[in-house]
Amino acid sequence: MISGQEALARLREGNRAFVANIPDPGATIRQARSNPLALAQQPFAIVLGCSDSRVPAELVFEQGFGDLFVIRVAGNIVAPSQVGSVEFAATRFGTRLAVVLGHTQCGAILATLEELRQPAPRQSPNLRSIVDRIRPSVEPLLATPLGQQPEALVAHAVRANIRAAADHLRHGSEILERLVSSNAMGCSSSAQSTVWRPGSSSFSMG
Ligand SMILES: [Zn+2]
Repeated sequence: MISGQEALARLREGNRAFVANIPDPGATIRQARSNPLALAQQPFAIVLGCSDSRVPAELVFEQGFGDLFVIRVAGNIVAPSQVGSVEFAATRFGTRLAVVLGHTQCGAILATLEELRQPAPRQSPNLRSIVDRIRPSVEPLLATPLGQQPEALVAHAVRANIRAAADHLRHGSEILERLVSSNAMGCSSSAQSTVWRPGSSSFSMG
């Protein structure tokens, strides 16, 4: 299995290729059909991303079948099942990089901000469970000058939510904490928060 640093470099390279030249998803499908998957998989990176239809991880990073272990949930939140999924890939496949992939115009972030400003009286408890996971990293921003700057507020909220998810992955699991502290595993941090901008086709890590 390649190292976390190599995995990150491969993701960056894939995204550069994607941005430079819109990929042909059909090519990946044809390649998979002509070369059926081996029985074993060896994903070189774990991606925790949002369910938003505009942020498909394999396309954004220009990777094929078997390359990425992808977990998608609205707002790229971290609940026990997401931690368990990352643990599974890290221990079962030896994958050494986990990336939290947030994005601009995230509906889950916008819904959380709406809920903070004007709580909905009869919100579904299931939807509320998502908002409640985002709320702690977003709520403090409302009390800062950002509270008066809607666009900047959303941008900061997206990054704050990514940082919170990465911190939760690092510290919410004995297995992952041990792997990260022994440098056996890399996890996207505040310095490597990953934001995808569907509108502009650009991408940033850091
Ligand atoms: Zn989203």
